[in-house]
Amino acid sequence: MSKPFSIAIHGGAGTILREQMTPELEAQIRRDLESSVKAGYQVLANGGDALDAVVAAVKVLEDSPHFNAGKGSVLTNKEMVEMDASVMHGKEMNAGAVAGVRHIRNPIELARDVMLNSNHVLLIGEGAEEFAFEHGYEYTEQDYFYTDRRYEQLQSMKEKGLFALSESKYPDDSKHGTVGAVALDQQGNLAAATSTGGVTNKKYGRVGDSSIIGAGTFAENGNVAVSTTGMGEFFIRKCVAGDVAARMRYLGEDVVTASETVINGELKAMGGEGGLIALDASGNISYAMNSSGMYRAGIDAHGAMEIKIYAAEK
Ligand code: ASP
Repeated sequence: MSKPFSIAIHGGAGTILREQMTPELEAQIRRDLESSVKAGYQVLANGGDALDAVVAAVKVLEDSPHFNAGKGSVLTNKEMVEMDASVMHGKEMNAGAVAGVRHIRNPIELARDVMLNSNHVLLIGEGAEEFAFEHGYEYTEQDYFYTDRRYEQLQSMKEKGLFALSESKYPDDSKHGTVGAVALDQQGNLAAATSTGGVTNKKYGRVGDSSIIGAGTFAENGNVAVSTTGMGEFFIRKCVAGDVAARMRYLGEDVVTASETVINGELKAMGGEGGLIALDASGNISYAMNSSGMYRAGIDAHGAMEIKIYAAEK
């Protein structure tokens, strides 16, 4: 009998307003979520490693303009894109991450290369890009990442002097559009990946939780893989991904209880909005959020696929 395998992905949590969503946009987003989860699932079905599955899934979302990662990343105060990404493999608890990269088309692939081909876990800015170009990455112009939508968002944020997203003509503007994936492969490996453009109008080299192992990303074989999305400052302070893993490891909580306790308990009490996806060693998936929605999809250990947007969707 073949071993269970499964995958879950997210495209960000936050305020996603059904009344402002157009059928066309919703259809496009659901299509992207489906392509992403299927790309990762295919790797698993072929007997591939969980790490390659989560990278394949995240890459699809980085290539879409609908999510805040890769193409479509939000803009900094200086009208640049600066992206953060990380991966973790649960077998040896190996990890790789990059922060503040500006010219890398798929930061999630670079995070995997940092894990596999360097002695380090986290590389930042120009140094991370130097490493990338030495390893054959192409220099991608900022123009590639730029979308009109993100430019308009930045201008409205600047007028208001804000960092978090606020109301605008887009149905999902008050949303943390980070993307991520968690997977269990047929060898029993768990892996997690997270990629983001961060928060609109960020300054001073701000880095969120998405490139911080234990905050935005965590994976441990025999236990759980986690990827988060939300206001990164809270997720770093609460060590969200690592906390879910610790609750399961030390308290014996199941994946749903551990995820809900962190997201709807302690994190919410601190004022941290957002959500996470988590996958346990048997392939059970948990989607937890304390916001009105989270773009999410999964294919469970029985091969059943689900794609959802709003919190209330059961
Ligand atoms: N967590 C990300 C950050 O704070 C933002 C997001 O989830 O969209 O950088």
